[in-house]
Amino acid sequence: MSQETVRVRFAPSPTGFLHIGNARTALYNWLFARHEGGTFVLRIEDTDRVRSTQEAIDKIFDAMKWLGLDWDEGPYFQSERLEIYRTYGQKLVGSGAAYESTDEEKGTAIKFRMEGAATSVEDLLHGRINFDSSLIEDFVILKSDGFPTYNFACAVDDHLMKITHVIRGDDHISNTPKQLALFGAFGAEPPKYVHLPMIHKEGGGKESKREGAQFVGTYREAGFLSDALVNFLALLGWYPGEDVEILSRQEMIDRFRLDGLGKTPSQFNLAKLEWMNGAYIRAMSPEDLATRLVPFLREAGIEVDESRRDWLLQVVTLYQERLKNLSEFVEKARFFFTDDFEFDPAAVEKVLKKDSALAVLKESRAAIEALDELTPECLEADLRGVAERLSVGFKKVAQPLRVALTGGTASAGLFETMVLLGKETITRRVDRVIEKLDQL
Ligand code: GLU
Repeated sequence: MSQETVRVRFAPSPTGFLHIGNARTALYNWLFARHEGGTFVLRIEDTDRVRSTQEAIDKIFDAMKWLGLDWDEGPYFQSERLEIYRTYGQKLVGSGAAYESTDEEKGTAIKFRMEGAATSVEDLLHGRINFDSSLIEDFVILKSDGFPTYNFACAVDDHLMKITHVIRGDDHISNTPKQLALFGAFGAEPPKYVHLPMIHKEGGGKESKREGAQFVGTYREAGFLSDALVNFLALLGWYPGEDVEILSRQEMIDRFRLDGLGKTPSQFNLAKLEWMNGAYIRAMSPEDLATRLVPFLREAGIEVDESRRDWLLQVVTLYQERLKNLSEFVEKARFFFTDDFEFDPAAVEKVLKKDSALAVLKESRAAIEALDELTPECLEADLRGVAERLSVGFKKVAQPLRVALTGGTASAGLFETMVLLGKETITRRVDRVIEKLDQL
């Protein structure tokens, strides 16, 4: 007997942006389909006419593409399948499984008869789940305006699309008895169900869908790499079999099995996502990283001319080791691209407003001006000379310069930074601070 081919679906309702929890659901469906050589269907459940928007649909497609979750079939839109649901509704009325029910305010709807329906669900992850009988009331399947309710459209489509495994959030467990009863009325074998435990917010608590930082787009804008986010999401509820944390997509596909899914909720952990993103950033070539950074620089109003590409690569290399995300580069390295950066008030107070600062800056400026060529070695020798002449420690020279050139006390290596800034920029910025020191 040939084994049935796996067919799974991701079925978002386009009522908002793609939430992290939904992205993980999509990812697990995708991984399962790819591992099994099956089919991944995308179905847009847009029958809620008030809350569904085109913008949300576009954002879902964007997010899926950005995450690299390509689908094999669809997108199907439930709003284009209304005839199918009506036909099925009529069939159920004909067989006695459903009946017309008139409400004075809401008009005539079609309700499904739940009597005699089973009250337990066999879940591949959780085993048998029993429901209390209060859930087995008759329910509306077609509203008076001819639109289907979620449970009905979902069951009709899972049936017609020959879905073999429904992998979705456990917020849908309570819908499952209704969907199973509908399959019974269709005279069809239901799919297998896998209900994924929620992702809890950091610090506990159920994740709210309205939480801003919980959307895929938010992480994209903050400069997380889609490969890193996918890797991170995969591990939020799936154990790949041994303690490996960084896995390529192919490795995830090779290892993905339903029995590796966790039964308990997982906890979102931003520090771990940042660590993972940093690891992916470090693994990139500086060339690739620079290409990814250009849109972030542009967004901040910074254009780097093609003729300065080599220089850009050097700046990028200076930061590559320490970046947690791409947008951080723009914050940390902004001073490389423009004189228009903020001075950290604490650094101004602590470093520039010290008695020795003015003399140090003047003496350093003259010493740097006199150099033929800037290299880390000759800058170091030069500035150690300044410290000696002024009888101050080397830090007393390095810190005011660092603040004058970068706006703060934390930056990459001072000498490397100075070499990449160049003599002209250094002298201009030191002059600016000397001139303004009494006004700072
Ligand atoms: N449209 C439902 C949702 O976004 C899908 C539920 C399901 O996968 O059956 O929650």
